[in-house]
Amino acid sequence: MPLKAICFIFIAMLVGACQANPVFFTKANKLIYFPECIDPTGLKVQWIGVPIEVLIKYNARAAIGVRSKTPAFGEYAKVLYNKDSLPHAQDEWIRFILYHECAHHTLGHLLPDYPPPSVPDEWVADCVAVRKLKTEKVPFAKIHILSRMYLKSKSDTHGDIEARINNMRLCYDSL
Ligand SMILES: [Zn+2]
Repeated sequence: MPLKAICFIFIAMLVGACQANPVFFTKANKLIYFPECIDPTGLKVQWIGVPIEVLIKYNARAAIGVRSKTPAFGEYAKVLYNKDSLPHAQDEWIRFILYHECAHHTLGHLLPDYPPPSVPDEWVADCVAVRKLKTEKVPFAKIHILSRMYLKSKSDTHGDIEARINNMRLCYDSL
């Protein structure tokens, strides 16, 4: 079964192709709006909360984008997120993760013929996510603090944390 999974970890979405059909996390009586996400072939990304055991199979902890084509179910595009922990993270971090994962879908990183996960693609997804947060008036200082709280210090596919955060800052400042 041709299954592509990208972006393990904690990470997470896009702006352009994301609208309507919100996903909501319930958290302390607070609802967080999350817009629709559509991949380049027109597939609507589904948001599915799963137990940590499912994410660990992908070497992920918070969320991961997956896309597959099966004889039984046809094509699907999904973001699997940790239903037990992610809704309890700080709002801005939840949004960062979901925007990051959406970006992988909308940018085509999960399409069947696309190359394997790479640091440049992860950083592009980060860039999309922080720029989206900037449009939502989240200061970079907040993103910086949350990144230090939640990101792995080192990741084969996401690069060194300092370089990664620096990339986020450059993206944020250049919008
Ligand atoms: Zn990623």
